Amino acid sequence: MEPISRRRMLALSPLACGPLSGLAFGAAGAARPNILFIMTDDHSSQAISCYGSKVNRTPNFDRIAAEGMRMDRVFATNSICTPSRATILTGKYSHLNGVPVFNRFDGSQPTVAKMLRTAGYYTAIVGKWHLGSDPTGFDYWNILPGQGVYNNPVLYDKDGSETYKGYATDVITDITIDTLKRRPKDKPFFMMSHHKAPHREWTPDEKHRKMFEHKHIPEPANLRDDYSGRTDALREQKQSVFHDLTRRDLKLQPPPGLSGAELTRWLGVKPMEVETEIDGVKKTLRGKELEDWKYQRYMQDYLACVQSVDDNVGRLLDWLDSSGLRDNTVVIYTSDQGFFLGEHGLYDKRFMYEESLRMPFLVRWPGVIRPGSTSSAIGINCDFAPTFLDLAGQPVPRDMQGRSFLPVWKGKTPRDWRRAMYYRYYHDPGDHNTRAHYGIRTATHKLIYYWKKDQWECYDLIADPHEMHNIYNEPAARKTVAALKQELYRLKKDMRDDDQFANEQPKESSYVKAPPPRKRD
Ligand code: CA
Repeated sequence: MEPISRRRMLALSPLACGPLSGLAFGAAGAARPNILFIMTDDHSSQAISCYGSKVNRTPNFDRIAAEGMRMDRVFATNSICTPSRATILTGKYSHLNGVPVFNRFDGSQPTVAKMLRTAGYYTAIVGKWHLGSDPTGFDYWNILPGQGVYNNPVLYDKDGSETYKGYATDVITDITIDTLKRRPKDKPFFMMSHHKAPHREWTPDEKHRKMFEHKHIPEPANLRDDYSGRTDALREQKQSVFHDLTRRDLKLQPPPGLSGAELTRWLGVKPMEVETEIDGVKKTLRGKELEDWKYQRYMQDYLACVQSVDDNVGRLLDWLDSSGLRDNTVVIYTSDQGFFLGEHGLYDKRFMYEESLRMPFLVRWPGVIRPGSTSSAIGINCDFAPTFLDLAGQPVPRDMQGRSFLPVWKGKTPRDWRRAMYYRYYHDPGDHNTRAHYGIRTATHKLIYYWKKDQWECYDLIADPHEMHNIYNEPAARKTVAALKQELYRLKKDMRDDDQFANEQPKESSYVKAPPPRKRD
């Protein structure tokens, strides 16, 4: 347990004393804490060493876990960028916040940022926003247009855009630190620092570009899943490492002279034959040799992008420490959803399988969260907003659909904590021909329903953690399936999902262009 420093006790402002008194251990609860929420895009927990990664080491993510808590069962309710972000801001499922696919977020609705601002917090967001409309409820915002770019990114605020020299992950961390330095010191802060990395097309920075080049990255055991016993969904998807990565994804060099539409078309090809140089020898790769190479090539860049985030998280933690903000700042690290790193032969997310469903969730709060603790309580991204409000001593609106993590963080998970979570994905066919589905996950099982196909999958997560064996039609599983179905329909109703968006088609309206450059004084 971290001792409460004398310096910090003296630094507590009388204005900041309030509703959290008594919630935390000893004097640590006397002030409303700052909240630093760091979120990446598409970072899967299989690529974080404190979650047991077999493919990389991440000392700074691990540092948050070692000094705080690692939550092992936090899940996205709709595993795709824009919907997850809308859920985090509103504490509501997609069907209630109006963002089931890439819809434009209606910023006039209540959000946790607005509530914290009203409650006296300084609120800021920096980096990836990806909600189609401009942020509301923030004292300061400076965001990437749509997906943004990795190198020399443009960000924009209410006054216009600016091109920042450098790599997106470094730039977003720089602006985060600058904003925190400039913040009003008489208020606690709520800072959302949102990275672009490690989103497709996985462009690493110069420092890490070659870090994994000559390393053999272990393949997941089910990289060559043949989908036997499963529904049509896995067979119909177009998010396969072997079949759907493009020349752009694989960083193949175009022939000289190509430009414009011609170049775009060349880069968009999914190559079934690749000429490359291995150990100084030119070689044409096909078949299994090409498949193996594609997996390595994909992972090399993905992991190098992650490594830059790890460095920058370390930089941010060091800055908090050196600024005297360590003790009274809750630091959270998460990603908008998980990602497939070759499991079931896939990249991307969307499916309800574990690697995509699970969000990494690490949190540090010295003096309150026991260092090195873990939790297997089932959390969802609807819980984030209620948690932030609870930290600020604010009531949680009744129409939010989550619960505060605070008791879980203190090692006192309430007896009536949820035993199952409800999931619903809509973006069908979308960019990857992923079939729409809904389902539930309990501590031991998962039931998935592809409603447009009327097909089911059920997994025993204890006996079959990699979800390879669909037990839905097995006589021995009949009772289990019936109980899961009953719970699924109960939860669906409880979450007020009456199929409002069942036929929603993919939209592209969350993609925006940057406004003209800011006028300088
Ligand atoms: Ca994402």
